[in-house]
This record gives sequence, structure tokens and C-alpha cells, in this order.
Amino acid sequence: MAILIFLILHWYLSLFGQTFFLHRYSAHKMFTMNKFWEKFFYTFAWVSQGASYLNARAYAILHRMHHAYSDTEKDPHTPHFFKDAYQMMMHTRKIYNDVLNKRVVIEDKFDRNFPEYPVIDKIADSWYTRIGFGVAYFVFYVIFATHWWMFLFLPIHFLIGPIQGAIVNWAGHKYGYRNFNEGDKSRNTLFWDILLMGELFQNNHHHAGSKPNFAVKWYEFDPTYPIILFLDKIRVIKLVK
Ligand SMILES: [Zn+2]
Ligand SMILES: [Zn+2]
Repeated sequence: MAILIFLILHWYLSLFGQTFFLHRYSAHKMFTMNKFWEKFFYTFAWVSQGASYLNARAYAILHRMHHAYSDTEKDPHTPHFFKDAYQMMMHTRKIYNDVLNKRVVIEDKFDRNFPEYPVIDKIADSWYTRIGFGVAYFVFYVIFATHWWMFLFLPIHFLIGPIQGAIVNWAGHKYGYRNFNEGDKSRNTLFWDILLMGELFQNNHHHAGSKPNFAVKWYEFDPTYPIILFLDKIRVIKLVK
């Protein structure tokens, strides 16, 4: 039971860090927040992703490229040039590392307006920290696992950010229905995106990239949006009108 709770908690906390902070805030600036909350959520995104921490600047740049070049050869992660999600993610990983380490020239319009905390980043991105998180997950399993097969879930914790990204990038541009003809291959995979907290409404999101609610039709539900509304109401963030 403890393992299941840990897995579910880790899944959703990491996912929230990704969709709320990295995607909707860092890449799209759908809302604003003061420096205190920015640092708080930067740290939140780091700790919740843990071993598979993603840097906000690199995430924002890759994601803006994805929107600008959706499903073309310049898209960092379209499923349409790869035979499986693993190949696609290896390609994305290479671009991510090039951007992160400033080995490539990046168009000016992508390379600005994202949160940067070099000190946090240095700690979060070090192998000592990543392995430390990995060891912590392992120790938790050693203490709480009641069957050997539970250890098969451990790789999900090690790679939680990229796994969630791979599902969104692969399924969201391959499986499901379309509300808008966007000229790319984006799709809405689920009506109620409980699994990826709204990220699987790729077609709706590509249609209106700065809209904080990824659901459009009355029967669609984006679970992150009510949280955004709540945080706006209690003035932690301010929605951009
Ligand atoms: Zn997309
Ligand atoms: Zn986006």
C-alpha cells in the first residue's frame, strides 16, 4: 500500500511541477508570480522530479520550438519521424543537452523570459543529487515493498519526468481526436485527462497556446485548470488576461 501511495504521489507531484511550472509558466507565461513563489515552485519542480530533474530554461526553449515547428523536422519531439517513443526521446535528449549546455545557436525569440536559478540548478543537475534521489527511492522500496515485483516500478521513479514527457509527446501527436485543424498532427487523447493532468489535450493546446485551460468542449476536463484558478484566487499567481 505504501508503495502504491508513493508511486501515485510521485507521479502527480512531478506532473504538476511539469505542467504547472515548466510548461504553463516557464514556457508559456500564462500567469505571473512574485520571486518568492517562483523560487518556491522552481524548487518544487526540482524536488518532485528528483532523479530526472529538467531545467526550466532548456524545457522552455525546447517547448517553444515544439510549438513553432510542430510535427516538422525542426520539432524537437514529433512522433512522426521515429519508429518508437524511445527513439524520439533519445533525439529529444540530445537537443535538450545541446540547449542546456549552450552548444547550439538558439533563435532569440525562444531564448528569453524564463526563470533562472543557477545555484538551485547546479545542485539539482549534479549527478550526486540525482543518484542521491535514486538511492532514496530504492531505500523507500526496501523498507516498504511487500513483494519482489513491486521493485519493477522503481524505473518509473528514476525517469519520471522523461516518461511523462514521452507519453504526452508521443500519444498527444498520434492518438485521439481533433477539435481544430491546426496544420500539425496534434490530438486530444482523452476526454478527461486525469492521467497527465491536461497535457494530453495537445490539439486544443496547439490551437490556443497561451490559454491556461486546455479543455475546450463541455465534456472535456483539464484537472490542472481548477488548481490554477484557485492559486489565482488566493493570489499566489496572477492569470494573464
Ligand atoms: Zn504538442
Ligand atoms: Zn505548450
